[in-house]
Amino acid sequence: MEKKRLLTGIQSSGTLHIGNYFGALKPFVDSYRSYESHLMVADLHALTTLRDPNLLRGNIVDVVKDYLAVGVDPREAIIFKQSDVPEHTELAWMFECLVTVPFLMQAHAYKDKVAKGIEANAGLFNYPMLMAADILLYDAEVVPVGEDQRQHIEYAREAANKFNLAYGETFTPPQEMILKGVGIVPGTDGQKMSKSYKNTIPLFGTREEIEKAVMGIVTDSSCERPEHVYAIHTLFRSESELAPLYEENKGKYKNLKEALANDIDAFISPMREKRDNITETEVKSILKEGSERAREQASKKMSDVRTKIGIAI
Ligand code: ATP
Ligand code: MG
Repeated sequence: MEKKRLLTGIQSSGTLHIGNYFGALKPFVDSYRSYESHLMVADLHALTTLRDPNLLRGNIVDVVKDYLAVGVDPREAIIFKQSDVPEHTELAWMFECLVTVPFLMQAHAYKDKVAKGIEANAGLFNYPMLMAADILLYDAEVVPVGEDQRQHIEYAREAANKFNLAYGETFTPPQEMILKGVGIVPGTDGQKMSKSYKNTIPLFGTREEIEKAVMGIVTDSSCERPEHVYAIHTLFRSESELAPLYEENKGKYKNLKEALANDIDAFISPMREKRDNITETEVKSILKEGSERAREQASKKMSDVRTKIGIAI
């Protein structure tokens, strides 16, 4: 039997953080071998918030290194760069012509970013349709994402349905795969941890960087248990393991933060060692091969789409 397809991606908009790991990378690593899997570097999406070519180039290489370090085997997944497959932007345009402005205006991720002071450029606004194209181009039925992306998967289903209704059965509506108990990992300011919000605990930070970020987690002096420290801690240890630690250290935020920094560091260090041995040459060759395979699939799909919508004469 043919395997179902699975796809996920992370924007090369900054250094990956533990929210990216628990929201997207862990569910991917845990399940990708049961599917025909695609892992994308969303470099075009990153342009919605990043305008520094050197930084972008570096981030692209770093994201692929991170993918490999967390345990993705490039022989068992298609690892590719979004911009290497121009069919993504082509299909996004077609979806943009099927959905309305008021529909896109309801997107939480867009509203949250604008509220954070990020420029409301048209790319940021249209982001969900590019994401719909990323998924639907490959008939991916399963999409591991964090809770913050649930609505965007709904938008991708809507794009598929709208297209199918207008032009006949073409796209498979995808399903999100969201890890239970993770939710939205809070950042050091208590809001969603995001690369573009500068509130992250880096996934592959040095011991010092992790410690610095953890010490900066906001705490409310009126509670005995620092809410955000605890929420992050539950990702690394069970609640029953944490209960005595938090009981013994009621109100002692510094001790609790030190314990959290130790746990994060211990968790990350084997992956960090693996990451240090991955070269840029290796990354480039993986992306080259993956992008060729992705492009082959995407161009087949687009040729059907072009015929259906009436631009192939
Ligand atoms: P940006 O600020 O540029 O949007 P980001 O940190 O939100 O970056 P994305 O590249 O947008 O990361 O998202 C990649 C994946 O990581 C998505 O599946 C998303 O749901 C997941 N993710 C991002 N932040 C979190 C978080 N705080 N908690 C859980 N999952 C998250
Ligand atoms: Mg995001």
